[in-house]
Amino acid sequence: ATPAATMVGTTIGAQNGVLFKGGDILERAKDVDTVVFDKTGTLTKGEMELTDVVVFDGDGQPITDGGQLTGRDRLSENDVLRLAATAESGSEHPLARAIVDGARDRGIDVSDPDDFENVPGHGIRATVGDSEVLVGNRKFLRDNGIDPSPAQETMERLENEGKTAMLVARVPAGTDEGELVGVVADADTVKESAKDAVSQLQERGVDVMMITGDNERTARAVAEQVGIDPENVHAEVLPEDKSDAVEAIQDEGRKAMMVGDGVNDAPALAVAYVGTAIGSGTDVAIEAADVTLMRDDPLDVVKAIRISDATLQKIK
Ligand code: ADP
Ligand code: MG
Repeated sequence: ATPAATMVGTTIGAQNGVLFKGGDILERAKDVDTVVFDKTGTLTKGEMELTDVVVFDGDGQPITDGGQLTGRDRLSENDVLRLAATAESGSEHPLARAIVDGARDRGIDVSDPDDFENVPGHGIRATVGDSEVLVGNRKFLRDNGIDPSPAQETMERLENEGKTAMLVARVPAGTDEGELVGVVADADTVKESAKDAVSQLQERGVDVMMITGDNERTARAVAEQVGIDPENVHAEVLPEDKSDAVEAIQDEGRKAMMVGDGVNDAPALAVAYVGTAIGSGTDVAIEAADVTLMRDDPLDVVKAIRISDATLQKIK
């Protein structure tokens, strides 16, 4: 493009909240044939809410009678939630904050854990009183020698609703026998324009994909809500593996735009043909990105590509 056309495109972008980092980026955007969306905070609002608490008895059976339990040393829903929230109060993760807020809303007094360790992409381990408490996904429990399978049916039910379900386990002091005590679930809502953005990209012939650290079932349920083909969902991708996943997609000869909001996404934004940071995005993401969308609107992804198109058509 001529310098004048580049200037016009960049200015039109800026007026629309679409910031291109340079003239070469403005030219590249029109050639994108694949858009890879991060899920949480990008396609969804990233405002998690606690939706479910399920208690498990000592035999791994779910008890879903609203916490009115008969067994003497069984935990109530509020007991499970208190354990989970106390463990999570040391974490900044949106899943953790939803658990803590949800517990407080239910009148539970949430104290700080005595000690905690964040395991990225897996969960949190904390010392609460004289027990160790674990909150996280199936792999996290398995890695810690606790069998998550008794909760499989409950987990699947929640995940099919698009919720992120997390296992809660406790290892009493002086033992190394962990026990599954419950499941808690958080739900997020899809952004209003996510579905339109996906369909407009698809109409243009762009392949739309999703990448997430969340589990396969939840990811597919969200993909279905926004019109992304389940085949195009890359789930259970660890934070440090997101950039490898984008590279693998580009190794197929694709020109990929990665769209993300979080710290986790910065390396993937950096390796993408076009890295796009969206909305409330963190400074780290914005730093790594080629395009910054000032608004929190997935339709601006389409706008960025259209501005690139228009700029280059004017000058030939
Ligand atoms: P995302 O890609 O959605 O930001 P992450 O990579 O941060 O997800 O986490 C992946 C999965 O690891 C979550 O879906 C959850 O199952 C588990 N997880 C991560 N952090 C926590 C936490 N603090 N508490 C419970 N589970 C967690
Ligand atoms: Mg995210």
